[in-house]
Amino acid sequence: MMLKLYLAIPCYNEQEVLPDSAEKLLRKYRTLMDGGKISSDSRIVFIDDGSRDSTWEIIEKLHAAEKIFDGIKMSRNRGHQNALLGGLMALRGRADAVISLDADLQDDINAIDLMIEKYEQGCDIVYGVRSSREKDSFFKRFTAEGYYKILNKMGAKVIFNHADFRLMSDRALEEFSKFHEVNIFLRGLVPMIGLKSDIVEYERKERLAGESKYPLKKMLALAWEGITSLSVKPLRFITVTGICAFLVSIGMLIYFLVRFFTGHTVAGWASLAVSIWALGGLQLLAMGILGEYLGKIYLEAKQRPRFIVEKILSDEDEK
Ligand code: UDP
Ligand code: MG
Repeated sequence: MMLKLYLAIPCYNEQEVLPDSAEKLLRKYRTLMDGGKISSDSRIVFIDDGSRDSTWEIIEKLHAAEKIFDGIKMSRNRGHQNALLGGLMALRGRADAVISLDADLQDDINAIDLMIEKYEQGCDIVYGVRSSREKDSFFKRFTAEGYYKILNKMGAKVIFNHADFRLMSDRALEEFSKFHEVNIFLRGLVPMIGLKSDIVEYERKERLAGESKYPLKKMLALAWEGITSLSVKPLRFITVTGICAFLVSIGMLIYFLVRFFTGHTVAGWASLAVSIWALGGLQLLAMGILGEYLGKIYLEAKQRPRFIVEKILSDEDEK
């Protein structure tokens, strides 16, 4: 059976780039079909994330002209992550595998060949990873790579330099649908599925046309979402700070007592300083403890699947 491959492409106000991208994707798909790599009922699906320009009209025209193009229209703009999630979930059960990529084709569509290869070798998830960030400004590279490191330190397992260019098998999508949370940072959530996965390296290019739909504000919001949706470590940080401040107060107390008995004190100052640190420390500690429970409630509220079975070896199932 030949691979039925779908592409899921979120689009927000992409009228400048869409016709061009569609043409390039069509050519790529034709080559893949002619080469016997994907089946002829594979599809390229554009997900309109509530665009205000003519993006949806373009998608309708593409669909009318070529049956290879499909469209999904979101009821309103909910942001890239939600649009992509919505698209992936809508495509569940329709294809053998779905590859997500951006409408501006910054991700190298020739990496699709390698992704297909890995899929054929049994991978359920194939992550596209940027081989270099040479084209990025120093600021962007520094902040982006630093961010990935911080995320990993906080216990969120993200793939270094991977964004949202990835292949997911239908099996992976099915398991992913068991994650019910609403604060989503896909690149941190997908690795939680587990299953056999691998990476494929590619060179990230400039946007084909139009401008970035990710201004600094949205970028920061996404970065913050990544940390707060995947980790409760910031809450633990409060507890630790509280304990440290309290320890400082005890240190001060000992120091001042020694000074007092050796007769070097100024009346009143020592007790004030010690109590400020002691009270401050205890308050932070109390907030931290509240935070610890809040964190637990937060994680419970997400109702993530507690386990995902990859394989079962049993004579019962083999009959
Ligand atoms: N996008 C979206 N909804 C939004 C913002 C962006 O669906 O609210 C899509 C956009 O059309 C593109 C992808 O997300 O396909 C990535 O956006 P962009 O290329 O502008 O981000 P950048 O590459 O500049 O980080
Ligand atoms: Mg882009």
